[in-house]
Amino acid sequence: MLNLLGLASITQGPATPPDPSRPHHGADGRFRNPHVADNHRLAGFLKWQLGRGPFDEILRVPREFRFPNAREFAHNPGPIVTWVNHSTFLVQAEGVNFLTDPIWSDRCSPVQWAGPRRRHPPGLAFKDLPPIHHVVISHSHYDHLDAVTVKMIGNRATWWVPLRLAGWFHEQGITNVMELDWWDSRDVPGKNGSAVRVTSVPVQHFSGRTVFDRNTTLWSGWTVRIGGRQFYFAGDTGYNPHDFRETRRRLGPMDLALIPIGAYNPRWFMKPVHVSPEEAIQIHEDLESHLSIGMHWKTFRLTAEPMHEPPYRLFLALDKRGIPHDRFRVLDPGQRAAWGR
Ligand code: ZN
Ligand code: ZN
Repeated sequence: MLNLLGLASITQGPATPPDPSRPHHGADGRFRNPHVADNHRLAGFLKWQLGRGPFDEILRVPREFRFPNAREFAHNPGPIVTWVNHSTFLVQAEGVNFLTDPIWSDRCSPVQWAGPRRRHPPGLAFKDLPPIHHVVISHSHYDHLDAVTVKMIGNRATWWVPLRLAGWFHEQGITNVMELDWWDSRDVPGKNGSAVRVTSVPVQHFSGRTVFDRNTTLWSGWTVRIGGRQFYFAGDTGYNPHDFRETRRRLGPMDLALIPIGAYNPRWFMKPVHVSPEEAIQIHEDLESHLSIGMHWKTFRLTAEPMHEPPYRLFLALDKRGIPHDRFRVLDPGQRAAWGR
């Protein structure tokens, strides 16, 4: 039964011994963040739930505010990105279709009768998806690894997962899985002989589906290079001045970056693991992203900030830094945008 719900504690995959030369491999077999202390723990969670800790400033979002949102094309032959909901995007390039952290369930929870319920329908119905060739998964949290959606897609797609998460997929009967550690890359054939290079890149977060498996599986951002272009998917992350700059240094600038803008309050608790809109802009700059799109907001209430605040905060912060609104966008669910230079 536990397995049916995807609840089982994640089993460790083929024994990968901790590698002391890699600072995110803890000697205890759990992973850790090299650039921040791990204080995002139960005591902090309880303090938040009890309403303790400093309050955050809440912005007054004008009633008429809409993020400037050009619908620029009807038919565009180049690469396309569609925001479905939360951290789920359909990214299409060179005839190859990718999904990021797909969730079509009503709730992001171990069970479908409790837990955060979606606030809007998916912007694209599951039945209307084109054939999916690849799925990238950032980490094991329920709003990013949805067992129901995973089974709906099944072995038709290749699943790209962080280190030690393949075991969970095998338990679901999914064998078409590529498990990578940070900075590992794999090349797979695309369409028309063009290669697709997928790389796992470091971000600052944590993992776990039960109280027992905290940080036993890795968390990861992803880059995909296809047809001379490159897109980036952050998953969930806090900000540090190392990971994104190093990603840019090793892999080059991004044509498209999918970056979280929501789930940032209370700041004293969330800052190590979830960026604010201002920090999302810093990631956009660190990556030298040509076009960034905000995600991880609007769909599920996970944290304390007002649901509609993230795009407004992003809008104000872009103005303050003199970045045009068409370089870091916020899409409506189901909206498509062209990407790639
Ligand atoms: Zn998470
Ligand atoms: Zn999340």
